[in-house]
Amino acid sequence: MNEIRDHHCIICGTPKAEGEGIRIVSGFICESCETEMVQTDVQDAKYPFFIHQMKQLFVEKNA
Ligand SMILES: [Zn+2]
Repeated sequence: MNEIRDHHCIICGTPKAEGEGIRIVSGFICESCETEMVQTDVQDAKYPFFIHQMKQLFVEKNA
Protein backbone atom coordinates (compact mmCIF):
# COMPACT_ATOMS: atom_id res chain seq x y z
CA MET A 1 0.00 0.00 0.00
CA ASN A 2 1.27 3.43 -0.87
CA GLU A 3 1.33 6.06 1.80
CA ILE A 4 0.08 9.04 -0.08
CA ARG A 5 0.11 12.18 2.01
CA ASP A 6 -3.09 13.66 0.71
CA HIS A 7 -4.54 14.73 4.05
CA HIS A 8 -3.74 18.21 5.23
CA CYS A 9 -4.00 18.81 8.94
CA ILE A 10 -6.53 21.58 9.59
CA ILE A 11 -4.52 22.81 12.57
CA CYS A 12 -0.94 22.98 11.32
CA GLY A 13 -1.53 22.45 7.58
CA THR A 14 1.03 19.67 7.29
CA PRO A 15 0.35 17.01 4.64
CA LYS A 16 -0.11 13.63 6.30
CA ALA A 17 -0.91 10.09 5.31
CA GLU A 18 -4.14 8.34 6.27
CA GLY A 19 -2.67 6.56 9.28
CA GLU A 20 -0.91 9.60 10.70
CA GLY A 21 -3.92 11.25 12.25
CA ILE A 22 -7.67 11.23 12.66
CA ARG A 23 -10.34 12.20 10.19
CA ILE A 24 -13.13 14.43 11.45
CA VAL A 25 -16.18 15.67 9.52
CA SER A 26 -14.60 17.16 6.41
CA GLY A 27 -11.09 17.58 7.74
CA PHE A 28 -8.09 15.87 9.17
CA ILE A 29 -6.02 16.36 12.31
CA CYS A 30 -2.52 14.94 12.52
CA GLU A 31 -1.31 12.93 15.47
CA SER A 32 0.86 15.67 16.90
CA CYS A 33 -1.96 18.23 16.85
CA GLU A 34 -4.39 15.70 18.24
CA THR A 35 -2.01 14.98 21.10
CA GLU A 36 -1.48 18.69 21.67
CA MET A 37 -5.21 19.34 21.73
CA VAL A 38 -5.81 16.58 24.23
CA GLN A 39 -3.05 17.93 26.45
CA THR A 40 -4.16 21.54 26.11
CA ASP A 41 -6.05 22.81 29.09
CA VAL A 42 -9.25 24.78 28.54
CA GLN A 43 -7.54 27.66 30.33
CA ASP A 44 -4.61 27.54 27.93
CA ALA A 45 -4.21 30.40 25.47
CA LYS A 46 -3.94 27.88 22.64
CA TYR A 47 -7.33 26.37 23.31
CA PRO A 48 -9.40 29.09 21.56
CA PHE A 49 -7.16 28.66 18.52
CA PHE A 50 -7.95 24.96 18.30
CA ILE A 51 -11.66 25.65 18.72
CA HIS A 52 -11.48 28.31 16.02
CA GLN A 53 -9.80 25.90 13.61
CA MET A 54 -12.38 23.23 14.40
CA LYS A 55 -15.27 25.65 13.89
CA GLN A 56 -14.09 26.47 10.39
CA LEU A 57 -14.73 22.86 9.44
CA PHE A 58 -18.32 22.93 10.59
CA VAL A 59 -18.98 26.31 9.05
CA GLU A 60 -17.64 25.03 5.74
CA LYS A 61 -19.78 21.91 6.00
CA ASN A 62 -22.98 23.81 6.68
CA ALA A 63 -22.41 26.61 4.20
ZN1 LIG B 1 -1.25 19.04 12.61
